[in-house]
Amino acid sequence: MKEFSGKSVVAGVAIGRIHIFRKQEYVLGKRSIEDTEREVTRFRDACEEAKQQLAQIYAAALKDVGEEHASIFSVHQMMLEDPDYLEAVETLIRREKVNGEYAVTMTGKRFAELFSGMEDAYFQARSADILDISNRVIRILAGIRESGIRSEDPVIVVADDLTPSETVQMDKSRILAFVTRYGSGNSHTAILARTMNLPSLVNTNIELLEEYHGKMAVVDSFHNRLILDPDDATLEEQRKSLESWRRELALLSELKGRENVTRDGRRIDIYANIGNAADLPRVLECDAGGIGLYRSEFVYLGSQDYPTEEEQFVAYKTVVEGMKGKKVIIRTLDIGADKQAHYFGLPKEENPAMGLRAIRICLSRTDVFKTQLRAIFRASAFGTCSVMFPMIISLWEIRRIREIVEEVKAELRAEDIPFGSVELGIMIETPAAVMMSDELAKEVDFFSIGTNDLTQYTLAIDRQNESLEVFYDAHHPAVLRMIQKTVENGHKNGIWVGICGELAGDPELTETFLAMGVDELSVSPAYVLPLRKRVREL
Ligand code: PEP
Ligand code: MG
Repeated sequence: MKEFSGKSVVAGVAIGRIHIFRKQEYVLGKRSIEDTEREVTRFRDACEEAKQQLAQIYAAALKDVGEEHASIFSVHQMMLEDPDYLEAVETLIRREKVNGEYAVTMTGKRFAELFSGMEDAYFQARSADILDISNRVIRILAGIRESGIRSEDPVIVVADDLTPSETVQMDKSRILAFVTRYGSGNSHTAILARTMNLPSLVNTNIELLEEYHGKMAVVDSFHNRLILDPDDATLEEQRKSLESWRRELALLSELKGRENVTRDGRRIDIYANIGNAADLPRVLECDAGGIGLYRSEFVYLGSQDYPTEEEQFVAYKTVVEGMKGKKVIIRTLDIGADKQAHYFGLPKEENPAMGLRAIRICLSRTDVFKTQLRAIFRASAFGTCSVMFPMIISLWEIRRIREIVEEVKAELRAEDIPFGSVELGIMIETPAAVMMSDELAKEVDFFSIGTNDLTQYTLAIDRQNESLEVFYDAHHPAVLRMIQKTVENGHKNGIWVGICGELAGDPELTETFLAMGVDELSVSPAYVLPLRKRVREL
């Protein structure tokens, strides 16, 4: 038994096997290939290996869960022999001279879309299977090892660090916890872990040793530690703690359907932050009043190429429709800095947090911006939808945005495409926006304060840099005064003001935010009910 210490970013307990995640295992991008016949052979070999894996899984599942549930794995084996699928991948490799990983990704996606668009429920259900078999082949092609763990068993992922796109591309149903050697509590990976409500540690003093792969471990992020190879007594104790954590969660669920109101009658909206449509069930589960921040860039990060208007429309509509009339605030593309999508071809910058990112990309690439706005406006016809813009610093930006929005609306009208009435808001996440909030408030319908970036830019502390944590004070008075000023200027001009950065979920500040008059707090789904509890106690 061995113990490692880390910093908890999501508290909880997870018991399971370790999966060492190494960066070089994921080489899924597009590469050009000279010898296409060799690549085709590599693809065929990967399919053979995938079928062998599936045969083993089938045999194990037959024992564990019986024929009825195991049969899916034999269906998967058959799908890997489907001539249309195989031919589509091979043609793509030969015609476009691309690597197998890319060809399988694109073909899997195309077939999955085809199936999901079919009337027949049986074929619709095959859409997920196509993605599943494609992912298996991709993992084999990319050399992502699964030995020691049957891939269907959820695991504790241990990595040096994870980028948002790596995190978003992982199959969440197979993850019990995240443990990273680096990373800060405010990084986007920590935010994603919070959205998934998976116990997580960053800054952990564990090495990525081969021998740890597949070993039993406990992540006890309540006590900032990972226990490797726990002995029986420790395991027993941790199982009890897991049970009591689950009971606590069950108690919180009694607050569903209750109001967010203090004992003296002050109400506040509590919304949820999400990264993509897959997070929707968690939002419904936690009874959030709406979605206060839909980080739409994750639609881009989960994609190998620019997502089309149609793809985006489907993603946004799923969320807007799924919220059944409750408000959904979609934040436009906030890419750049730590959130990189290779196909944007963004220049390497000395100082990316202050570089070409977020609204700056959208205002420089209006084609990309308009495609996204069209998708958002089209989705707005299916519920209540607002849009907000990140990283604003100047008045002219919002005026230019409004012009582009008007162009998009005029196009949609001319094409007879319906859209709803959409509130336009901005994120207040730069000191410039705070200082200009009086004037900016006259141009928009709401403010949402992004405390993650606002803290980074106010304190001049890189949110990604864990070595600055001694200097980092999440409750720094400068940041709190910025929030207060923004709320005052918003209210003076008759607009509502929310907070959607991580600070919104900090229970030590709930009272302060209520006193400041903040109208809405938007937090990771797992924090909605604890926050409701906090508000009701005040
Ligand atoms: C923020 O900066 O506080 C915010 C909510 O946006 P993001 O964390 O996605 O940068
Ligand atoms: Mg931000």
